[in-house]
Amino acid sequence: MTPTAPAAPALDVLRRVFGYDGFRGDQERIVEHVVAGGDALVLMPTGGGKSLCYQIPALVRPGTGVVISPLIALMQDQVDALSGVGVRAAFLNSTQTPAERSEVERALLAGELDLLYLAPERLNVSGTLALLDRAQIALFAIDEAHCVSQWGHDFRPDYLQLSMLHERWSGVPRIALTATATVATRGEIVQRLDLGGARQFVASFDRPNIQYRIEPKNQALGQLVSLIRAEHPGEAGIVYCLSRASVEKTADALVAQGIEALPYHAGLSADVRRRNQARFLREDGVVMVATIAFGMGIDKPDVRFVAHLDLPKSVEGYYQETGRAGRDGLPSTAWLAYGLQDVVQQRRMIEDGEGDPAHKRRQSQHLDAMLALCETVQCRRVQLLNYFGEAAQPCGNCDTCLAPPESWDGTVPAQKLLSTVVRLQRERGQRYGAGHLIDILLGRENDRVRQFRHDELSTFGIGGELSEQEWRGVVRQLLAQGLLAVNSDGYGTLVLTYASAEVLSGARTVSLRREAPRPTRAAKRTAGAELPEADRLLFEALREWRAGVAREQGVPAYIVFGDATLRGIALTRPGSLDELATISGVGEKKLEAYGAAVLEVVGGPDLRAGQ
Ligand code: ADP
Ligand code: ZN
Repeated sequence: MTPTAPAAPALDVLRRVFGYDGFRGDQERIVEHVVAGGDALVLMPTGGGKSLCYQIPALVRPGTGVVISPLIALMQDQVDALSGVGVRAAFLNSTQTPAERSEVERALLAGELDLLYLAPERLNVSGTLALLDRAQIALFAIDEAHCVSQWGHDFRPDYLQLSMLHERWSGVPRIALTATATVATRGEIVQRLDLGGARQFVASFDRPNIQYRIEPKNQALGQLVSLIRAEHPGEAGIVYCLSRASVEKTADALVAQGIEALPYHAGLSADVRRRNQARFLREDGVVMVATIAFGMGIDKPDVRFVAHLDLPKSVEGYYQETGRAGRDGLPSTAWLAYGLQDVVQQRRMIEDGEGDPAHKRRQSQHLDAMLALCETVQCRRVQLLNYFGEAAQPCGNCDTCLAPPESWDGTVPAQKLLSTVVRLQRERGQRYGAGHLIDILLGRENDRVRQFRHDELSTFGIGGELSEQEWRGVVRQLLAQGLLAVNSDGYGTLVLTYASAEVLSGARTVSLRREAPRPTRAAKRTAGAELPEADRLLFEALREWRAGVAREQGVPAYIVFGDATLRGIALTRPGSLDELATISGVGEKKLEAYGAAVLEVVGGPDLRAGQ
């Protein structure tokens, strides 16, 4: 770098401490606003770079930045990551001994901390407020600010009292951050946290590096294994399942296939959960099989894929869960397999569930939006972003853009199916699921068909033009389109809807999505995949070196260097510390700590191009 006039303090901190060249998106405006003492509400997708929005102002303003975060299990990693770049950070939470806590309190009062992470419930503990009164506070950052919302978050009571920060420290700027997008939640944050005067910064919620793919479920496990083998071998990923039992079963099955997988759900002891989470964070390439209990606040940047083996209950949930892939901006996959059974099961769960009719209606609307996303013949990203109120163009990086699905006129098959349902509905008290309907259409003379003399129905055997698999697709899509419904008898019996009548009378045509044949051979999409061979070898060698350092220090590998930084090193092959310093993610402290070792790996004899 040529010597120039000293950069603005915030930019200087960004470069010197974090080793990044420039701010991203709104970061600069947010940082300036908070440095100048303004309140801010920041809505940015996961991976958007929210942390720097409060970390840099905390470093630029005098005093300590106090970060309220509900995720005490992750505080140690956050503090380790900051220490790794030379920022003086600490936390106060219930996991510490009194002696550890008083050391942190001493450091705070002595002005030795740049950042202090606090669990929200600490503010109820007598003494914490008085302690903060005696300290110099640079700002309050309220992370995961959607926790104030009424949508059943665990930490809500503790978050609701945070409006008190404003009353007690009216001169200290507050910055609330969340990745939860909906307008309703945003309004609630403003109201509950008394942020009416705060400037709002709303980023685009697009995650261009994530490839969205949704496929029909055939052999879910086999599909998942081939996804991992073909595209993400040896890489970190999260597999979401609906139930604890399927988490266990899936994790076992992956392990049996030689894939390093661990289970995570609320039925496991706190100890096992902690251990599995720590391994996922610390080791390279662990696959976490989990219920949605897992993942909030997991800021592991190199999760390369998120797979759903069951249909999520809402687009909000789906987007939040898939958003955990690819925080580091490198290519990542969001993959979902869903089938007829998912639709039937979810409709049933809503019908049989607790809650008043209004609540059920809301749940149904959420499910309908999710199904519409699954069945769309348009760009998934366009549909997703539209759902969150954002306009977009076809992305070129989702399954429907990459292999546009055909739609076909399914009116006649729909009529055949619906008229079979009509005939069965006349037999009161009997309960038939989709499988039996399809048996009738295909003309299968099995025991059940004979027992109920369904071979005498006029629709028996009239559906030979489609295979069983295709018929299941038709049933699923009719359910998704509201042309068929699941009865609330607890058996998943299929019944007509008001709209079905229009199809039967011929007043309405039915457009269906043709189930695309599964891609024959998907390309590897690992973090190093598209690097030239020699650079890829160097990248792998750097990862190996990183794993050793991380193990030695007991920290997650990404705290040493992120994948994006290792890629940068592999591609540019720096020959000196000065050259290494120019790579994104290499700040002063890391250059000093690791520079020599990295140069040694780069200069290693067996890694030069051509060998
Ligand atoms: P969020 O909290 O919004 O999910 P993070 O703050 O964890 O996102 O940032 C995501 C990733 O992007 C991190 O690996 C971070 O180091 C990186 N990052 C953030 N801002 C920048 C920037 N200006 N330049 C380069 N990398 C950045
Ligand atoms: Zn697309």
